[in-house]
Amino acid sequence: MKIIEDISSALPKNAMISDICYEGSEIILYTKNKEFFKTCTELIKKIVNKVKKRIEIRADPSIVLDEEKTKELIKSVVPKEAGIADIYFEPEFAKVVIHSEKPGLVIGKNGETLNEIREKTFWTPNIKRAPVIDSEVIRSIRKMLHKEAGYRKKFLNELGKKIYTPGKEVDWIRFTALGGFREVGRSCILLQTPQSKVLLDCGLSVASNTKQFPYLDAPEFNIQGLDAVILSHAHLDHAGMVPYLYEYGYRGPLYCTRPTRDLMALLDLDYIQICQRENKKPPYSSKGIEEAIKHCVALEYGEVSDITCDMRLTLQNAGHLLGSSTSHIHIGDGLYNVLYTGDLKYEKTKLFEKASTDYARAETVIIESTYGSSEDSLPSHTEGEENLVDIVKKTIEKGGRVLVPCFAVGRSQDVIAILADSNIDVPIYLDGMLWDATAIHTAYPEFMAKSVQNQILHKGKNPFIDPRLKGIGSSKEREAVLNSVHPAVVLSTSGMLVGGPAIEYLQNFSEKPNNTLLFVGYQAEGTMGRRIQKGWKQIQLDNGKSIELKLGIETVQGLSGHSDQKQLLSFIEHLKNKPRKMVINHGENSKCVDLARTIHKMLKVETNTPKDLETVRLK
Ligand SMILES: [Zn+2]
Repeated sequence: MKIIEDISSALPKNAMISDICYEGSEIILYTKNKEFFKTCTELIKKIVNKVKKRIEIRADPSIVLDEEKTKELIKSVVPKEAGIADIYFEPEFAKVVIHSEKPGLVIGKNGETLNEIREKTFWTPNIKRAPVIDSEVIRSIRKMLHKEAGYRKKFLNELGKKIYTPGKEVDWIRFTALGGFREVGRSCILLQTPQSKVLLDCGLSVASNTKQFPYLDAPEFNIQGLDAVILSHAHLDHAGMVPYLYEYGYRGPLYCTRPTRDLMALLDLDYIQICQRENKKPPYSSKGIEEAIKHCVALEYGEVSDITCDMRLTLQNAGHLLGSSTSHIHIGDGLYNVLYTGDLKYEKTKLFEKASTDYARAETVIIESTYGSSEDSLPSHTEGEENLVDIVKKTIEKGGRVLVPCFAVGRSQDVIAILADSNIDVPIYLDGMLWDATAIHTAYPEFMAKSVQNQILHKGKNPFIDPRLKGIGSSKEREAVLNSVHPAVVLSTSGMLVGGPAIEYLQNFSEKPNNTLLFVGYQAEGTMGRRIQKGWKQIQLDNGKSIELKLGIETVQGLSGHSDQKQLLSFIEHLKNKPRKMVINHGENSKCVDLARTIHKMLKVETNTPKDLETVRLK
């Protein structure tokens, strides 16, 4: 291929390159020359500047140091405080993987320690943060990726070959709405050029029984013809059907951030269990989830990656939850740019910076509208924080207990961080999966707001290991909390009171007027949460039992992971270049239409509110 020829011709004769292969869009050169391996950094930089592709140089397996000796050397040069939890080797990639509680100390000042390891052992170090709270999900994902290193090497090389196959001219671009248009749930978009078919999210709706899955039976779509899947974040309404694609034969790449990958595994595994508990056949098995992870190409925020012969992807912070991202897709050579916001928060929250608006160009922006209507004016996040603490304190003063139904991932960690920062002095119980999700948060502080990173990395003040937090891991532990009379806060799934342990707590808490049911997140139409918010006092549980709600019902607004209308408009106004077309999705009918009308009026931009199954031509 031309790119390989260009690189080869720029290398000196004595470089002793034994292999050139792709790792997705990255090009890896393996050398047998130890001196060249140590001294080629400047030369490689020059070549990178010339060919505009990422290139990495690694040692040929024949020149790396013995594994045991390498381990010894690592332990002798890395300070003890780094808390090395594990060291293992991936000879396929000439990499040594180091799990450490404090990766900064393994890297050393200006990368000195890392360099020393590299130059003395010829292995390329790959450092992963060991979560402060043990996470079974992270442990098994890392183990699986290690076991599948040989497969991944082949897969990434084949992927690279496909990406670098010269593309033809892009004479049209279009997308088809497969789900999540004029509704919330089952988000799924098929973006197409003559040569590329890329799926943006593949979610399912937990609130609806009839409109549960995206239209994967649409004539435009076929699983085998798909080139790439981009996942904006781990919530089920975006990621819940990703494993289905793999279960039914898709073997291409899944692009997302590492926290999104891990949280997706957690939530999708839980979804299978929910189906089984409800005697429904899950749409996929754990095999589908495993395959998705095996084919995941994890990207950092801001990392530019070719994903097909005519599309280049950049993920940026979306401010919505851990690892959530906007997807910027550059199509053709300078031809067209599409920005898909996914779920978007354009305000700094306790845990995350506000969404990025740093995109060179975006001719079309596909934007969510969960709170897109003019009536949806949310109080500030700070105001939400104050209200939350206030309601909890008042309930505790009355000797009551607070139930906060939460998604396992997102608002719950926000609420935890707020409570950990307050002087509320009662136990905070995290039921079931909420605890696992919180553990995953402790592995990725670099995806959180600067202020939280500072707290965790420099002040040793990690909100997620606060002594007031107690994980509930078994029904026995739950029973103990239910039988106790002491004031407490319980955070539990499901966030909209459709199943989950939250129902058990609600049943138990409902009798006493001094208890409080506190909503902090979006309650979709058709859910029990929405009915209670509307004022229903007598509710029927799934087991047929009817209960009367005597406890206080409160909603704290402002803690949402979504933007209200003014934040959405502000996001658009802060984009470097005004888009030509705005497409509105991820909102109930009226919200989509209202936001479109407002954007058109205020910003004089063409707006579009397609329905599911409609196709829109962009170019
Ligand atoms: Zn979401």
